Amino acid sequence: MAQGLPGNRIGCPYGTHRVITPAGVLPQAAWRIDNSTEIFDNEILLDVRTLNIDAASFKQIVSSAPPGAGKKELEEHVAATVMKIVSERGKMHNPVTGSGGMLLGTIREFGSKVRGARGARTGDLVATLVSLSLTPLRLNAVKRVDLDKDQVDVEGSAVLFETGAFAVMPKDMGERLALALLDVAGAPTQTERLVHPGDSVLVLGAGGKSGLLCSAVARQKAGPNARIIGLAHGPASTARARALGAADVLISADATNALQVMEEVLKHNDGKKVDVTINCVNVPGTEMASILSTRPRGKVYFFSMATSFTAAALGAEGVGADVDLIIGNGYAEGHAERVLGLARSDAKLRGILEEMFPG
Ligand code: NAP
Repeated sequence: MAQGLPGNRIGCPYGTHRVITPAGVLPQAAWRIDNSTEIFDNEILLDVRTLNIDAASFKQIVSSAPPGAGKKELEEHVAATVMKIVSERGKMHNPVTGSGGMLLGTIREFGSKVRGARGARTGDLVATLVSLSLTPLRLNAVKRVDLDKDQVDVEGSAVLFETGAFAVMPKDMGERLALALLDVAGAPTQTERLVHPGDSVLVLGAGGKSGLLCSAVARQKAGPNARIIGLAHGPASTARARALGAADVLISADATNALQVMEEVLKHNDGKKVDVTINCVNVPGTEMASILSTRPRGKVYFFSMATSFTAAALGAEGVGADVDLIIGNGYAEGHAERVLGLARSDAKLRGILEEMFPG
């Protein structure tokens, strides 16, 4: 049992003191966590302004609305679902997709052990860089749902543990854009590590926010003579990927159709599979398009939260594909600075993202 005054009670660095059920697990694995606003010594209390819901989670919530729902009904459905999940679990941890997202809020209070962490002060506007699936969250109300941005404005509070990374919001770009960039910050940094000069690269979901960032980085890293193939889905995302111009070839296709995607890749890569595939799609069922399009001993990076470990591992085995399957860790050292820097240094990329996330 924790002892001492709020703000001085000694907490576990990983937040296990907040786990309610099941006992003994870490907060991400927990079904329910304690979302009370009385903080421990190693916690930071935030007033929450906006939730940036994970793309796979948001899409799943929207798709669970009654058929034929209009914009207003969809917004109400998202608001009600978010309130229900948070009240049941003490965190915005979608039970279907298992994913979370991140949030924007201002610092209300520091625990005694973490006062001034990362140079931050009370009142600073910050974005959390750890998943909402492990962040204690309490909501009073959902104020606005933005169906186009996967963002929900709320009134509530959240708690960050001492191991929970966060970034003070930059002053030189819009809040919604910065929040969107920080949500997918791991993807471009890890793409940069995986792609080597001259590699052929396939980006699935190339017109989505992480897909655009990864395409830009793949182009930079692989160099002008490498082959970058972007696969976009609907007309709007295809148009964004085209406007960016990072890919040599743009395919407009459904990534759940594995054989069709592989054939398109072979057609556009001199009959060869690619060296590296980056999966940035927000729907399930795209594991085999990624695996079948990648050469033996090539690398498949699954940033998508809709990825199934079993579908990827057993699917690769089933087709005799000796490829490295890489889980998209949301954290990479320096990822926040890197993703903001990428948007600052690439005017075309920034312009497209600003259109996606105005304000
Ligand atoms: P996003 O902006 O919504 O982009 C997703 C893209 O997937 C969209 O451009 C969409 O195209 C495309 N897509 C949807 N269905 C498709 C299909 N059948 N075939 C081909 N493409 C399809 O999402 P995001 O924010 O970049 O996130 C991408 C993924 O990363 C999500 O799964 C998200 O959950 C995950 N994520 C992972 C982490 C991590 O830590 N690993 C962190 C954040 C997000 P259309 O719009 O044209 O349909």
